[in-house]
Amino acid sequence: RRGTGPGAVAVIGLGRFGSALALELMRNGAEVLGIDTDEDVVQELNGLLTTTVRADATQEQVLRQLGVDEFDKAVVGIGSDVQASILVSSRLLKFSHPEIWAKAITGPHAEILEQLGVHHVISPEHDMGIRAAHLIQGRVLDFVTIDEGFALIRCPAPEAIQQRPLDTLDVRRTYGVSVVAVRRPHEAWDATEPGTVLYDNDQILVTGPTGKVEAFSNLD
Ligand code: ADP
Repeated sequence: RRGTGPGAVAVIGLGRFGSALALELMRNGAEVLGIDTDEDVVQELNGLLTTTVRADATQEQVLRQLGVDEFDKAVVGIGSDVQASILVSSRLLKFSHPEIWAKAITGPHAEILEQLGVHHVISPEHDMGIRAAHLIQGRVLDFVTIDEGFALIRCPAPEAIQQRPLDTLDVRRTYGVSVVAVRRPHEAWDATEPGTVLYDNDQILVTGPTGKVEAFSNLD
């Protein structure tokens, strides 16, 4: 069967979002089938993805012929043509197989995709706006919302928790967050241990409730 490997993904719609996603999946060793109606787009990605096909993915027949129903995951990267996005998603939902990820460009678009039963709806502009707000506010170097109200951030180690082993600082009880990893200057990321001691110029990954991780990153 085609596309049953752990990293077999069909990417439908190879615009800025879909092509960046498809290329990153390739870099991570996935098998990627790219589909787009635009000949220029297909030409450009030809040879860079496992397979690149020019086709109209709103046709159920096309999806079957390309074996998309046998892939484990499918991403609908079509955005501006909302009708095509909805149509492709609903065709894919008839198949028992691929787990479906779809991009939404507006709130109502996301709502419709969720209503249809799409497993994961991604709203890149909305999410990036929120992320950028956190990045431009304080010392947070990277910010990922894990779920509503819970986040993972990268920030410099605050002075308040430097020079002493982490387990003696009671970080969890005092600040309501967990320091999960550290990167020393010129070294790789490593998980923290109870005896880890942080110093100036160390960067850390911190998880916890969004407000708490932010407050923590702004400690002196
Ligand atoms: P982005 O903002 O990521 O560039 P767009 O919505 O502008 O996203 O691009 C979506 C891509 O999807 C375009 O390259 C377009 O040619 C492609 N596309 C649109 N309709 C279909 C369809 N029915 N089948 C396959 N690809 C499609």
